[in-house]
Amino acid sequence: MNVYEDVAEFYAGYRGEKTVIGRSLFGREIFAFYVGARGAPAGISQYAIHAREWITAYLALQHIRRGLARGGAWVVPLVNPDGALLVQEGAESAPAARRGELLYQNGGADFSLWKANGRGVDLNVNFDARWGTGAGNRRVPGPAGYVGRAPFSESESHALADFTLRVSPRFTISWHTKGEEVYWRFRQPFFRARRDRRLARVLGRATGYPLRDTPHSAGGYKDWCIDALKIPAFTVEAGKDSFAHPLGFAAFGDILAKNVDALFEFTEACLRHG
Ligand SMILES: [Zn+2]
Repeated sequence: MNVYEDVAEFYAGYRGEKTVIGRSLFGREIFAFYVGARGAPAGISQYAIHAREWITAYLALQHIRRGLARGGAWVVPLVNPDGALLVQEGAESAPAARRGELLYQNGGADFSLWKANGRGVDLNVNFDARWGTGAGNRRVPGPAGYVGRAPFSESESHALADFTLRVSPRFTISWHTKGEEVYWRFRQPFFRARRDRRLARVLGRATGYPLRDTPHSAGGYKDWCIDALKIPAFTVEAGKDSFAHPLGFAAFGDILAKNVDALFEFTEACLRHG
């Protein structure tokens, strides 16, 4: 099993609009697929920015297959291919010259709990939104929490931010595992908070997941979208908390049942609410 090859193969066969938004540190492509009506106001839906959450890339492929009716979205299934392959295949998946350092950062050969990219930066704390101030932020490379040398220091976070600025989306959704929660808040002023909470409730209804506040979040993609772009942005933590990281195909039925229609329902609700 190789999630990168699966997404690349899907990309090769995809007949709709598609693009490569950039490359990972180890040179792997980061693919994006457009779904929905042409010219519709589009959102961005991104997945697997955390390595051990690679199962969400397969949710992305199902979101693409499911399609959208009137709305549109760019789906980015695998933001962190290098990290995902570290989890799936271990240090052998990295270039030979990088393996020693990765094994050292990881403290061993078992990468199954690795969240970071190919040099120990946690991409979801590498965005420019109160960067470095979050709970659990770290200043040294490792499996999780290292914020990097500077915001957007990593090719993957840089590619996603660049693409986001180009698309100028009306919303973004980030799919993670696990815990069955929807995060929507990042210091929005009152009027935007009201708008964003209303949309979060749509996602909550679609997935069956409760809304949660994340007061100690910083540097995340969602945080940056809310703070810098001032658009509604959400994180969905798919998968029951009782599943163990890294969630695999045993958890996929549950994830699919609760999340496969969520992107569709969300874009429809966005259109209804203007
Ligand atoms: Zn995550």
